Amino acid sequence: MSTAESVDLANAQAPRLLTQVPGPLALARIERDRKVTSPSLPRAYPLVPARGAGSVVEDVDGNRFLDLNAGIAVTSTGHSHPAVVEAIKRQAEQLLHYSASDFYLPIYSDVCEELDRIAPFKEDAKCFLTNSGTEAVEGAIKLARYATGRQYIIAMMGAFHGRSYGSVSLTASKAKYRTGFGPLLPGVHHTVFGDEQHLDILFKRLVSPSEVAAIVVGPILGEGGYVLPPEGWFEYLRGVCDQHGILLVVDEVQSGMGRTGKLWAIEHFGVEPDIVLAGKGIASGMPLGAMIARESLMIWDVGAHGSTYGGNPLSCAAALATLDLIEGGLMDNAREVGGVLLEGLRRIQDRRPAIRDVRGLGLMIGIQFADHDAMVAIEHAAFRRGLLVLGCGDDVIRMSPPLVLRRDQAETALQIFEEAVAEVPG
Ligand code: PLP
Repeated sequence: MSTAESVDLANAQAPRLLTQVPGPLALARIERDRKVTSPSLPRAYPLVPARGAGSVVEDVDGNRFLDLNAGIAVTSTGHSHPAVVEAIKRQAEQLLHYSASDFYLPIYSDVCEELDRIAPFKEDAKCFLTNSGTEAVEGAIKLARYATGRQYIIAMMGAFHGRSYGSVSLTASKAKYRTGFGPLLPGVHHTVFGDEQHLDILFKRLVSPSEVAAIVVGPILGEGGYVLPPEGWFEYLRGVCDQHGILLVVDEVQSGMGRTGKLWAIEHFGVEPDIVLAGKGIASGMPLGAMIARESLMIWDVGAHGSTYGGNPLSCAAALATLDLIEGGLMDNAREVGGVLLEGLRRIQDRRPAIRDVRGLGLMIGIQFADHDAMVAIEHAAFRRGLLVLGCGDDVIRMSPPLVLRRDQAETALQIFEEAVAEVPG
């Protein structure tokens, strides 16, 4: 095993496999893990990461992988970016915790000021910080009901918003997320992403728009298969919301913070939401989420909502460093290297009929196959070659790499991906 600290992992050759994967140490760890961890954890394949830098991850056997997962769209600035690590260390030496719900933690409002500055609407913003994406969704459901005095929420078939009770009531990407847990939150209806007629029917037959508090929608369906909206969908939704006094809540937990080449994916569609939700990439791997709302909506009373850890100082320090890096060049890199990946994948599609569709924005790219089995087989074939990608939807492989992915790494990834696709009968 060659995991000497002196190796510059971010620039090291990757993939570089020393054993078959999983190797012996990985297998031993998986055995230990199985005995004590919840069987609900949906492990995709037997990766046992030990350390990472940039777009490279090394497992416990010293095998190096090229990571196009980014810890599932989280490590936006790459694994353990030195500036982020330094910011966390500096903050850790000063203050590990003080509940920002109960007192005036300075770094909490520093982050909220930054989110106000970058919020994708003209009105000033007020923010509530959380530990995760699902908590940001929960906050939005509560605020939307509170601010409008209405009870109904409309979400999209195929969307994923999290696994806590409120958010899982909106989630409709896979039945297994809901099976066995009913009854879920009442007052939630689902419509079809991109289908104006379906929403019209919903309003006519099931729920009056005058009783709807919010439409919650991701700019791109994430877990649902990296599906882009049809032309005009968001203008249509904005129009419906304006007409009926409904709040447009945009879930950017996966698509936000520069991943698509703009700070917020909704900016590609020229529409301003009322509430935007962030998570995942916001703090490069530290637990943080945010509900960013137009200030005129944040009308709830003292004590109506809070959190012990949400916006903890370490995550806030990581978020400030992350945003600096994203605006300082990584968002541009996402656009450029995303273009390299997208074009390369389209060329592969011309040669490999197993690929049914290639789509995406920036570094949020989906590659669709004939069926679920083909997708799983390619995910595993890529893993065996040292390339980390992950399935989503029924039959789609997603590429959501760190925003630091280099052009040469993108080209290596394309080459390995094509080999993996070639291995599977299409
Ligand atoms: N919303 C979207 C669009 C997501 O992709 C996710 C997670 O994948 C969530 C919400 C939930 O975030 P978390 O897993 O941090 O609770």
